[in-house]
Amino acid sequence: MTGQPRGDTANPGDTPDPDGPNPPAPPGGGRPLLEVRDLTVHHGQLRALNQVSLTIAAGEVQAMIGANGAGKSTLLRTISGLKAATSGTIAFDGADVGRLRAERRVAAGIVMVPEGRRLFPSLTVEENLQVGASYARPGPWSIERVYELFSWMPQRRRQLASQLSGGEQQAVAIGRALVANPRLLLLDELSLGLAPVVVARIYDTLPELLASGVTVLLVEQDVSQALRVASRVHCLLEGRITLQGEPSRLTPAAIEEAYFGLSNGGPVAAPSSSGAAE
Ligand code: ATP
Repeated sequence: MTGQPRGDTANPGDTPDPDGPNPPAPPGGGRPLLEVRDLTVHHGQLRALNQVSLTIAAGEVQAMIGANGAGKSTLLRTISGLKAATSGTIAFDGADVGRLRAERRVAAGIVMVPEGRRLFPSLTVEENLQVGASYARPGPWSIERVYELFSWMPQRRRQLASQLSGGEQQAVAIGRALVANPRLLLLDELSLGLAPVVVARIYDTLPELLASGVTVLLVEQDVSQALRVASRVHCLLEGRITLQGEPSRLTPAAIEEAYFGLSNGGPVAAPSSSGAAE
């Protein structure tokens, strides 16, 4: 693996069919929505991320897996501007956003659902949603639309967030992110502490999010869940990417090796359908 993306997005040099009309240009002219290059991040002396690179095209769901402390949350926090990078670049829709403050990135469309929900416990459901709209872009999502997505929510709108179950709080945290009208939604450990049936219900909302035009990068400790929903999976181990590829091309043995660091070799790259790995 070279760290360079070679095949994740449509090739802008593809020759159009001479007998047919030119296909419509993809949004963004075929460039990735998110391009992270050689990202290194420290917490004090600790190097939490080491030369991490990944590319996400608009409309994709990609997943980051890895053990506790691998650096997954640090990656999402750095992309969203809550943590400064030591080196490397973060390009969003072709623009360098690496030095923008977090709220400017929200306004650009990068929105995170943090690990542990982080709702304001003394505010109501609706007040928490209103907070999410503070730096909102115009777009399809509104508090009313969130209420349509989670049909139980309107009846509970006046209830304090602290009185909700874990799954309900996760739904409010997702709703709070959606009302900002994200183009890229960063989901950190949605399933943490939730019963499998609740996790399934939360993940059931993904198709509707994607249909509204949202692109997703999620962190998930539940590997099978990540493999189920993502078109591309990355494994982090001690701050380095040790495996990346399409779920259908990753063997359980390769995932286990990358997850636990069982091999002394370099990162494993599963070929993508275009025959390339980052
Ligand atoms: P988890 O699933 O446990 O949240 P993770 O893969 O998200 O793990 P990070 O939270 O990104 O991992 O942590 C990566 C490393 O950085 C760990 O060694 C962690 O202890 C350390 N770390 C994270 N946040 C801080 C911080 N604020 N100060 C110091 N060290 C930190």
